[in-house]
Amino acid sequence: MLIIENGLVLLGKELKPVRTNLVIEDDKIIEITNNKFNHGKKIDATGCIVLPSFTNSHIHIADSFAKDIADGKSLDEIVKPPNGIKHRLLEKTPKEKIVESVKRSVKEMLMTGTTRFIDFREGGIEGIKLVRDAIKDLPIECKFLGRDPIFYNPNAKRNEVRKKTKNLLSYCDGVGLSGFGEIDDNIAKIVVSQCKKNKKIAAIHVAEDVKTQKISLKNTGKTEVQRALETGFDMLIHVTNPTSADIELLKNSDVSVVLCPRSNGILGTGIPPISNLLHLNINLLLGSDNVMFNAPNMIREMEYTLKVSRGFSRKYLDPKIVIKMATTNSLPIFGDVGCIEEGYRADILIVKKLSSNPWLSIINRLEPHDIHYVIKDGKIVNLAN
Ligand SMILES: [Zn+2]
Repeated sequence: MLIIENGLVLLGKELKPVRTNLVIEDDKIIEITNNKFNHGKKIDATGCIVLPSFTNSHIHIADSFAKDIADGKSLDEIVKPPNGIKHRLLEKTPKEKIVESVKRSVKEMLMTGTTRFIDFREGGIEGIKLVRDAIKDLPIECKFLGRDPIFYNPNAKRNEVRKKTKNLLSYCDGVGLSGFGEIDDNIAKIVVSQCKKNKKIAAIHVAEDVKTQKISLKNTGKTEVQRALETGFDMLIHVTNPTSADIELLKNSDVSVVLCPRSNGILGTGIPPISNLLHLNINLLLGSDNVMFNAPNMIREMEYTLKVSRGFSRKYLDPKIVIKMATTNSLPIFGDVGCIEEGYRADILIVKKLSSNPWLSIINRLEPHDIHYVIKDGKIVNLAN
């Protein structure tokens, strides 16, 4: 039994600050109480904020070995499959080097408070196995969204696509497609229907760039967002450049939108219109995107998100909303973890309280050395390893 006492706990899905104690048994929060305990291992969280650990909802972790390569090149030149610089590098880099750099990124995530991530996994089944194996002994949890080379062949037989997708899904949690620029809509439909049949996630990058939105409109009469919603994807990555019609279509839709503001910033593709997206009754998440472009650090992501959004929209953005995007909003994907309530798995951070505003204390002030404890599934993570 582990007891966390005297902290300011950000409780429930709304992260309500309450001074209370948590009782953790095995991997779960079993009790939230003002009672004191005389037994069990105790952590005194006086002067600390106790919050759910972070979820990085969009990352390409396998390009961790290629940090800051190709800066200044266009998005297509760097990451467009199958021949973008990144894909060529992935093919010729020794597996050991990829594995080593993936492990380093996981350590960086843990040291900055992230214990869950959603990975867009290139390289088919082999690519999934490589990263799954690299992280299997580390205290982090991942949803892998894979893809198969057959998706890029517009002439592939429907049956073959169906078969390959079904097989791929037996190794991972869903499909993560690079974008409509590389994939035929009919292929995308088959892939999404297989995901739905197998209760897996269907995700795709959309509206990252104004250019791809325009090409989509010219070639099909529809925007990328429209095509993604009509095809039935349940997770859209970026949505940095939606049209006003896209915003209307997204309203009340049953999708999660993962924003990656720092990635958009470094690639010069825009600033996501967060203040417009907030009122659509959709689930908003945050991700750091390719490790090639960004450190997988959710504190940095939250700070950039809050400040560029306020600066760009000239409107107030509540910092609590940004922290929800990196914590409790990922509950629909991870299920029983990412929220401090009784019955949930205990993925928890205990961090120094650095100002009178608990949310800004985290976004505006927190440094890795202010994170006193990272707890994954009820166990204290040894950050020295
Ligand atoms: Zn991405």
